[in-house]
Amino acid sequence: MSPLAERVTSGDRRALAQAITLVESTRADHRAEARALLDELLPRTGTSVRVGVSGAPGAGKSTLIEALGLHAIAQGHRVAVLAVDPSSSRSGGSILGDKTRMTDLGREEAAYIRPSPSGATLGGVARRTREALLVCEAAGFDVVVIETVGVGQSEVAVADLVDLFLLIASPAGGDELQGIKRGIMELADVIVVNKADGDLLPSARRAVADLRNAVHLLRPKRAGWEVEVQLASALEGTGVAEAWDRVLAGIEHLRTTGTLESLRGEQAVSWMWDEVREALMARALDAPGARSLAKELAAAVAAQQVSPSEAAVRLLDLSG
Ligand code: GDP
Repeated sequence: MSPLAERVTSGDRRALAQAITLVESTRADHRAEARALLDELLPRTGTSVRVGVSGAPGAGKSTLIEALGLHAIAQGHRVAVLAVDPSSSRSGGSILGDKTRMTDLGREEAAYIRPSPSGATLGGVARRTREALLVCEAAGFDVVVIETVGVGQSEVAVADLVDLFLLIASPAGGDELQGIKRGIMELADVIVVNKADGDLLPSARRAVADLRNAVHLLRPKRAGWEVEVQLASALEGTGVAEAWDRVLAGIEHLRTTGTLESLRGEQAVSWMWDEVREALMARALDAPGARSLAKELAAAVAAQQVSPSEAAVRLLDLSG
């Protein structure tokens, strides 16, 4: 094993951070190094519980993830939290990253929190998150939480990386259901209505009833698994243990039905195609003169002087 792989697997935190920085890099020489590192680490991966957590900004994701994480650590787990926030690349401002989050969890020896990598495309961010997840597993984290903002396409990309999706809703002033996109509801395996405390408790209960109705109208995501809608207060710590138990029950269901194995298999195939797409893109743009031609063609396409498909063919012809 290379010294870096050795240090990662021995639990060296600086090596872990260094390895993730490496897999996040887009430099060609770094990519080659990252691939070699991942090949070394791969045999030590695949054993963690991979949980996607989604919810609209302000729903209480970071507060609840922190509470769930501390609970899981108390049970003897080691918890890594990775964020996917492609909005940071588009707007320059990050929904998840610009405040100090999960400070208590971050202080735990058994926790590792990594903010979202910045990147041009969701595909790129998702890919780096997948690789960061594998590095965390190799470093001995047996629970990996991947957090998304719940406002866009990132959930669909993250569904390709995780075993189970936890959706966090909040009792925000009666229109709680409108804040949750149908597509995200369909991905959820467990739904938690957070902020079930104080003045918010009655509206949290209403949100639970509404969400239960909404869930029943959806096609079941998995045979034999009921999407429960639970109450929690991350602030007061109520319902946190129950939410975590439900997540573990969901994983157990996947295991005993053989679904986990087929799911991971499908994800591996989808990973392969992601790599093919990325490699083809890189090859197309690395051909001599490709970048300047791409710029010219993009302008011509925007001005409707060249058709998009014609431009694509001309660009691809450059790389042979
Ligand atoms: P995120 O944007 O989804 O990560 O949400 P945060 O975790 O940052 O929480 C947004 C706001 O909701 C913060 O002011 C939190 O203190 C508050 N909050 C989070 N969880 C709870 C809860 O269980 N009860 C109440 N009353 N407030 C909460």
